[in-house]
Amino acid sequence: MIGQNIKDLKYSEQEIVKKRNAIRNKFMLKSENVSTGNIKCMSNQDIKILFDLYDEEFFKSYFRDNFKESITFSLSTRMTTAAGKTMYSRKIKLLEEIEKTYEIRMGIKFFFQYYKVERDKIVSGINTKDSLEAFQIVFEHELCHLIEFHLYSESSCKKRRFKTMVNDIFAHTEVHHQLPSQKEIISLDYGFKIGQNVCFARENKKYSGFIYKINKRATVMVKDKKGTYKDGEGNTYSKWYVNFEQLV
Ligand SMILES: [Zn+2]
Repeated sequence: MIGQNIKDLKYSEQEIVKKRNAIRNKFMLKSENVSTGNIKCMSNQDIKILFDLYDEEFFKSYFRDNFKESITFSLSTRMTTAAGKTMYSRKIKLLEEIEKTYEIRMGIKFFFQYYKVERDKIVSGINTKDSLEAFQIVFEHELCHLIEFHLYSESSCKKRRFKTMVNDIFAHTEVHHQLPSQKEIISLDYGFKIGQNVCFARENKKYSGFIYKINKRATVMVKDKKGTYKDGEGNTYSKWYVNFEQLV
């Protein structure tokens, strides 16, 4: 198979489900870390194993046989919005030789936290049954970014070209995920919501305000005449970062 043809691959939904399942079963046999659908541990090597399986099942070993550029696979615990990310860079060298490198990075926390919230976890329009299936579908999305970068040196999942390809090859109907985020888990654990009135103490003084943002800590806006933040009604506020345990 030649490069340009890879984007024109098209499978029926039935074929896709069969291939995805075949990959899942082979992966659980080959991986040293994952033996069930519940991911508890993963290494960069696991992503390489998954990549080779996808290449064989979906891409007719195109990458093994034709792709001579370098791809790195990595796991990140710091990704908070995207569950996967594909990066591409070009280095132009002497004699106009161009060196292209690619990296697929997976936000592993999303998959470790998969079971922390009880609700449907839809990824790319597919209602996933476990964290391994969610991982595969995010990875499939990233594979389409890789193909676009490879063929066109640019990629966007907001554009029609990407949406068509990801639907033809993997039957994805959307380009985003609804996996539990750190924010959702924290606010569920503590029962706090944005906009909620809260109190906290600092150096023996009590403050009250409202939750403006939720991250690892809550951002609380406290009415303060000397504050530098203003709302539409002219009230001024100071901004505080407070651990959830300290809020009441
Ligand atoms: Zn994307």
